[in-house]
Amino acid sequence: MGVLSKLVTWARLSSPWVLHLNSGGCNGCDIEILDALTPRYDLERFGVLLKGSPRHADVLLCSGPITKQTKKRFLRIYNQTPDPKFVVGIGACTMSGGVFRECYNVEGGLDGVIPVNAFIPGCPPKPEAIIHGVATLLASLKGG
Ligand code: SF4
Repeated sequence: MGVLSKLVTWARLSSPWVLHLNSGGCNGCDIEILDALTPRYDLERFGVLLKGSPRHADVLLCSGPITKQTKKRFLRIYNQTPDPKFVVGIGACTMSGGVFRECYNVEGGLDGVIPVNAFIPGCPPKPEAIIHGVATLLASLKGG
């Protein structure tokens, strides 16, 4: 890896911009994700910034099971996100479909469609668990 690539990777890991995606869960995880992004928990202290476009994102924060309707959209958004990109599955639904498993419209977990770097279990996980999971992932990617 060249010096410039290393610098870009260091900058992205030091100030990761995140995109929040829901593929059809109950919205419990989304409320906790948004809670984690409020000033009370202050994810910005890790340089985390919420963005509205995959083209500006480094990390995809995903919630909900993959449904037949959202499968292609998730794949398209994943492909629109520039490398190096990281995917975090938040909640039991992203791991296996959770309580929606075996529903007629549910394909299963997130890793059946796109590669996932980390899962944060829970139904829903608390904001503290989400922050811990994201911070641990970033530390491990930095080699810290
Ligand atoms: S894991 Fe639980 S809280 Fe999160 S979207 Fe699924 S059912 Fe809702």
